[in-house]
Formats: sequence, C-alpha cells, structure tokens
Amino acid sequence: MKKYRVRADAKIELKDFSPDDKSEFDGDKNQAKTALDELTDELDDLQERLYAESKRAVLIVIQAMDTGGKDGTIRKVFGNINPQGCRVTSFKAPTSTELAHDYLWRVHAALPRRGEIGVFNRSHYEDVLVVRVHNLVPKEIWEKRYEHINAFEKMLSDEGTTIVKFFLHISKEEQAKRLQERIDTPDKHWKFNPNDLKERALWNEYQHAYQDVLNKTSTDHAPWYIIPANRKWYRNLVVARIARDTLKHLNPKFPEANVDFSKIVIK
Ligand code: ATP
Ligand code: MG
Repeated sequence: MKKYRVRADAKIELKDFSPDDKSEFDGDKNQAKTALDELTDELDDLQERLYAESKRAVLIVIQAMDTGGKDGTIRKVFGNINPQGCRVTSFKAPTSTELAHDYLWRVHAALPRRGEIGVFNRSHYEDVLVVRVHNLVPKEIWEKRYEHINAFEKMLSDEGTTIVKFFLHISKEEQAKRLQERIDTPDKHWKFNPNDLKERALWNEYQHAYQDVLNKTSTDHAPWYIIPANRKWYRNLVVARIARDTLKHLNPKFPEANVDFSKIVIK
C-alpha cells in the first residue's frame, strides 16, 4: 500500500494520481467483497486488543470532495468494529461556540481515548480547505495553520495516538455521476445539497488546496494516503488494508492476568 502514501519529503501533483487505479488487487468486485470481510473481521479483533490494552489510541482522518465516499467508507470499513471502541465524529460548519475558540479546540475534544479508534469524517483540515477556498479568514491566518497542524499531530503521536489520514480521490466526472444519482434516486434525495453544486464550481481551487495539504502535512508521524476512489469496492479495500496494517504494526496485546486462575474454583 506504500504507493498510495505521500512521503514526507514528496512534492506530489494530484493529476499524477489516477482515481481509477485498481492495480493493488488482482480480482473482481466479488472477490474484493470476500477480502474486505476478512479485513473487517481482523480490524474488529485488533480493536478488541487495543481496547483491552488501553494504552494507545488510533485516529483515522477521512477527507474528500463532496460525494467522495466518506460516509460509505466509514460504514463499510469500520462498521464491523465493536461500537463501544470506535468513535466517529463528523465535523460540520463550526457553531458559534466553536468559533469562539481556536480551530483545534473542537478537534482536541473529539479525539479518541486510549483503547479507542477515532474516525474523523472531515476534520481540522477543513480549516485549510473550505476556509481557504472561501476566504473565511485572511491568508495570513490560514497559511500558518499547516505548521500548527503538524505540531499538534506530532504532540498527539508522541503522547500515544497513531494517526493515519485518507484523501478519497475521485474525478470530477465521477462526482457528476454521483450527484446525478442523488437526483435520480428518491432515497438519495436527502443527500442532495444544492450547495454541493456551488462547491463543485470551485473544483480546481479545492484540488489545489488539497494538493497543498498533502504536500505540507504528510509526515512520518501522520502520513496521508491518496486513495483511488472512483470504484467504491477498491476504495474500501485499500482503506481497510491500510487500517489493518496500521493496527497490526501497533501489535496491541491482551494484558497479562494478575489473578492466579489455578486457585479459582467456581461453585
Ligand atoms: P455528505 O457527504 O453526506 O453531504 P458532509 O460531510 O458534506 O456529508 P454536510 O453537512 O453536507 O456534511 O457538510 C458539512 C459542511 O461543513 C461542509 O461543507 C464542510 O466544508 C463544512 N465545514 C466543516 N468544517 C468547517 C470549518 N472548519 N469551517 C467552515 N466550514 C466547515
Ligand atoms: Mg455535503
């Protein structure tokens, strides 16, 4: 999965990454489903160990353009984990209380505890994406944020939170298809937000802002992965593999019992 990781010193251009790529899987959609089922079982098992150990936390950040598949990825990849050990937070436009604090305040409060996997549906990166594209704060303010974010994530990593970040990369054509599907399918009408069309008109500005995020904030302690996301099954498979590999690498262990079980008799 290394090919999707943005190296800390890399200068990437998003146009060099194909949203249609499926080169890391040698099978069809059905085989991918079987592989995904195995991976999500493994994730559930690893999370149980992480929780039993309760020493470390994992933070998964998911960012994408509208219709990029954040919801679907969370459902299909993390939906099999014990809900008691997995905390999903969706970041919407900040409330007045949130705006009365610095932009990382609400993020800090939503972080996973030790033993938990936290999943962010959007994140502090909105503060250098939508905020930048719409000039919600002056450039002098947002341009300092990459550095804050790197320092913040370094602190979290030093203190025991493993961070992995996914950019679900779709093409502009794929977004058109998915928006049209929301219009054509009554059960998807609730997902259609006319505002998404205004954001779509800013496609290039967003791609540029994403490219900067990927180049400035992919670090050894909190790497970004660019996930080819035009095919939902492939996107899920790659995210699940990286999440599994990350947890496996942490190697969480059930704690040693501090009870002598040989002396216990249940009557
Ligand atoms: P869906 O894909 O289901 O539409 P969503 O994540 O787009 O889900 P929405 O309620 O449609 O959810 O949108 C949330 C909105 O909040 C997005 O437009 C996002 O850019 C915006 N937002 C998030 N964080 C910030 C922020 N810090 N400042 C301004 N806007 C933000
Ligand atoms: Mg939306």
